[in-house]
Amino acid sequence: MAKQATAISVVDPTHKVDYSKTETPPNYKCGKCRATGCKLWREYQTFLNHQSLLCVKCAGQEEGKVVCDIDDAGKIGLERRWRTDQIGWMVPAVPTEENDTYWGYSSVPQAGCEWWNRLPSISEQTKAELKQLAQPVIEHAKLRQRRGRKPSMVFWGQNNPRKALALALKYAA
Ligand SMILES: [Zn+2]
Repeated sequence: MAKQATAISVVDPTHKVDYSKTETPPNYKCGKCRATGCKLWREYQTFLNHQSLLCVKCAGQEEGKVVCDIDDAGKIGLERRWRTDQIGWMVPAVPTEENDTYWGYSSVPQAGCEWWNRLPSISEQTKAELKQLAQPVIEHAKLRQRRGRKPSMVFWGQNNPRKALALALKYAA
């Protein structure tokens, strides 16, 4: 069977990872939108050869999860105010310092956790997209307000209009 293209790119031992820096190796890229320099997730318990890395936006799409409330620590909200750094079946992708494999979810060393935590949760590219998407949501809400109505648009998977507007204002800022 042919090796998947992603198998080559998820690791790259020629580019080590320095946990003391807030930098990602060149191969640390979203397999879908190519976002880089930000937190990425990987499938839980999948062989390295079949592994793919995804950014929060793409992981949310892939797993059918609403990720719009992602915080700086890379956590999303669940029911009853629980927060998690897992997106569906995907877990934080923390490469070893040798950049030859990924740490198991519960075995990531402290320095590796800190490295991942320091990375931006959302890529620059996605932030710019969200900023653009936020504008019509805000404009619409202003129009509705003038007519004495409540906002009615959704934003980034958030279908509670009031929360959607609050998010849009956050990402437009
Ligand atoms: Zn992506």
